[in-house]
Amino acid sequence: MSHGRIEEEKNIIAIMVGYYCRKKEKNQIICSDCRELIEYAQARLDHCPFGDEKTACKKCSIHCYKPDMRERMKKVMSYAGPRMLFVFPSIALRHYFCFTCFFRFRKAQ
Ligand SMILES: [Zn+2]
Repeated sequence: MSHGRIEEEKNIIAIMVGYYCRKKEKNQIICSDCRELIEYAQARLDHCPFGDEKTACKKCSIHCYKPDMRERMKKVMSYAGPRMLFVFPSIALRHYFCFTCFFRFRKAQ
């Protein structure tokens, strides 16, 4: 069984948090807070019960984050998410539906 989708999501999280840290926080090297967030998010993905079957965005891993980590990830996503379209259009397009669901989820909070 491959973990393609999970591995890809891990990469995207690292890219997005890295982008946020560089552009929004103006850090040259990723700060320890952001590194912690990436490690946390990647660990959640490793323990995701849906694994590569995680096609239902409603059941996105963001729901299983601790509240403070969820807040941090929301900040990163709301900054980096829309910008991904310009910076990494191929990644953004493949994940278009995930972002759509995510922003809907965010509004519902
Ligand atoms: Zn940072």
